[in-house]
Amino acid sequence: MTAPVPSNPYDAVVVGGGPAGLQAALTLGRMHRRTLLLDSGEYRNAPAEHLHNFVTRDGTPPAEFRAAARAELAAYATVTVRETAASAVVQDGAGFRVELGAGGAHGPETLAARAMVLATGMRDTLPAIPGLEPLFGTVAAVCPYCHGHELSGKHVAVLGSGPHVARVAFLLERIASRLTVLTDGAGLEPGIRAQLDGAEVAVRPEPVKELSRSATGATVSFAEGPDEEVGGVFVAAGFAQRAPFAEQLGLRMLASGAAEIDAMGRTSVPGVFAAGDMAHTAALPMPMASVLTAASSGLVAAAALDGDLLASDHPN
Ligand SMILES: Cc1cc2nc3c(=O)[nH]c(=O)nc-3n(C[C@H](O)[C@H](O)[C@H](O)COP(=O)(O)OP(=O)(O)OC[C@H]3O[C@@H](n4cnc5c(N)ncnc54)[C@H](O)[C@@H]3O)c2cc1C
Repeated sequence: MTAPVPSNPYDAVVVGGGPAGLQAALTLGRMHRRTLLLDSGEYRNAPAEHLHNFVTRDGTPPAEFRAAARAELAAYATVTVRETAASAVVQDGAGFRVELGAGGAHGPETLAARAMVLATGMRDTLPAIPGLEPLFGTVAAVCPYCHGHELSGKHVAVLGSGPHVARVAFLLERIASRLTVLTDGAGLEPGIRAQLDGAEVAVRPEPVKELSRSATGATVSFAEGPDEEVGGVFVAAGFAQRAPFAEQLGLRMLASGAAEIDAMGRTSVPGVFAAGDMAHTAALPMPMASVLTAASSGLVAAAALDGDLLASDHPN
């Protein structure tokens, strides 16, 4: 069943209620743009107890951050927030059709938008180590800038065998009391051993059998040899687009798996802007995944969208 497309399009539909989408909606609301924010409730930092490295918000629980942002949005009459997933975004003339959810008893709901902000984030894939997933976001982390300081003076493990291992270990050198690389049965890549030899980093080459929560962090058990007691473990996660819209719209993509944007958040498809972890400029090797940079890119994309609608409504 195809739902009728309403004739009064939103100025912008923002898909995503993380920091990028919330900030984009705030900027659009402040300019009295008729804006709809859609949020399916799947946030990248959901497993984390606190967010760090955001001035004025260091140590805030992520849910508290989002609740404060929602409360601020409520003051803007032209912004509507719906806790609903979008299922498709389709180009329709000069604008877009946005399909919501699975439809339910009344069939699918379709909305119209003059322009889109995609802020749907990325989904992480963890190494397949038993016990790792329940520790992710608390004892196990990816980013030393977000979660390193909390491990001050503790024994910290770095899981992996590629170049990221040396980089993460060196980032944590001033913070941890002791560092151990867990190669999980793989040989360290050439050059990494020599790099680590120059630093006080231990290497445990045995396959990791399991990680389990302990009173002071985690216990790492191996296929053979003694356990290691650590305060935290850093891992390298893979990541991919959480939502299908970049692909549906045929956006130009980068090697990182993110959509390509220009400095103003414009994607390769006119009228589609992107912000947050799902997009970055070609000058960067990967998204600068952080709450502050996501929010900042949401502001930039929303301002560019507002400017482009203005230019279209008031041509020279
Ligand atoms: C464990 C962990 C801890 C982290 N800790 C920190 C930290 O301490 N400090 C820091 O700065 N950064 C931290 N980060 C990184 C930070 O979480 C991200 O950079 C940031 O959340 C990116 O914001 P975003 O808005 O792009 O995406 P997200 O926050 O992931 O939000 C994506 C939004 O899109 C919505 N969405 C997706 N698909 C659909 C759909 N089909 N329909 C409707 N809505 C949809 C989701 O529901 C969600 O609302 C952490 C990341 C992880 C994994």
